[in-house]
Amino acid sequence: MPPERTLLMIPGPVEISPAVREAAAVAPPGHLDPDFQTTFAAALAAMRQVWLAPPEAAPFALAGGGTLAMESAATNLVAPGERALVVSTGYFGERMAEMLRRRGAEVVILAAPPGDAPAAGQADAALAAAASSGRPFKALFATHVDTSTGVLIDPEPFARTARRHGALSVFDGVCATGGERFEMAAWGADLYFTASQKAIGLPPGLALWVAGPRALAARRALAAPPPLALDWEAWRPVFEAYEAGRPAYFSTPPTTLLLALRTGLAELLEDDDEPAAAMAAVFAAHRRAARALRSAWRVLGLAPVPVREPLEAHTLSALRFPAGRGNELVAAVRAHGVTVAGGLLPALAGTYFRVGHMGWATRSPEMLLRTVSAVGAAVAGAGSAAAREAERAFEADFGTGPETAAPPALAGPRRGD
Ligand code: PMP
Repeated sequence: MPPERTLLMIPGPVEISPAVREAAAVAPPGHLDPDFQTTFAAALAAMRQVWLAPPEAAPFALAGGGTLAMESAATNLVAPGERALVVSTGYFGERMAEMLRRRGAEVVILAAPPGDAPAAGQADAALAAAASSGRPFKALFATHVDTSTGVLIDPEPFARTARRHGALSVFDGVCATGGERFEMAAWGADLYFTASQKAIGLPPGLALWVAGPRALAARRALAAPPPLALDWEAWRPVFEAYEAGRPAYFSTPPTTLLLALRTGLAELLEDDDEPAAAMAAVFAAHRRAARALRSAWRVLGLAPVPVREPLEAHTLSALRFPAGRGNELVAAVRAHGVTVAGGLLPALAGTYFRVGHMGWATRSPEMLLRTVSAVGAAVAGAGSAAAREAERAFEADFGTGPETAAPPALAGPRRGD
């Protein structure tokens, strides 16, 4: 990468791989083109693998973003008057709740103070109480990583408790899918959605989700269909046809981005015969990058917004400004060649900033080190002892973390462990 290009280390869009860039730069193919059909079919099949979803689950890839995926979940799974439980860990949980309210659902929010997360036991109690009152929740919604707070939840117990109580479980993976561990089939989760510009490693422009059989059945059981452009029943025949080797039409697909999707997913899977092993390596690469960055942040006195270590996401760092500093720090980091992001949660406005470290960057120690250097220079001064110490802490941890067999490899992009 040319050193003069400012590095994009916000929590999406993110740096993308050279191969994905090339794939996204071709002349757009027609959606009925036979070569495009084959590539799109392969991308859809690869989604099931990246999601670690059961074979009967249905992948969806639409022009749009995470917000569109959220709206499709709200409108296909919940009917007006039904009850929804939202486990909120920040801004995007609140957005999900607002969409469900606009859908006419009765929404109950389980929230925690900024930086904290409700426990799965609380969701279990709420689901049990609702079921015994005769007014059960139709679905539980939770954000895998809330990008506004950097809070990670473990979706597994939420998925399992929802299933135990007969509710659907829906997870917003926009800042997590392809970065944080998610095992859709093993956990019995019903819907997991994301957008292309995050850990999947593409430009913005695609809304992506995989729906399990219970979620698909819930859509079919709706008495009144959702808006046509969002209707899973309108889209599914198209994806099914492509996977069966025939192109089909409902709305013109974003062909160029779908070529890039095939490339990006193949990079994650490394065309491995064993998706579980490939994805375990991808998740480990994110953990390794996050841990090494945390070592650097500690040296620089940057405290995380998440209140406990297990709540700290591996796809981004949400960091409190040091004493006496504020939003001007974001511009100061950029002056050193790296773009990071300000805060997003109104309740914490002006008190923190965010650094994205997902997707391709987790395979590029240079990008991560450049980020540490730029943040270190902005916080402690370029070439200061603290900035150098932060770089050393990053390098030592990146090369010697518990999941690492190899010595520090700061010479070229590689899989994280
Ligand atoms: N959910 C989460 C967790 C997100 O991080 C985002 C985007 N930052 C969204 C939903 C919305 O996605 P989009 O901006 O692509 O509409």
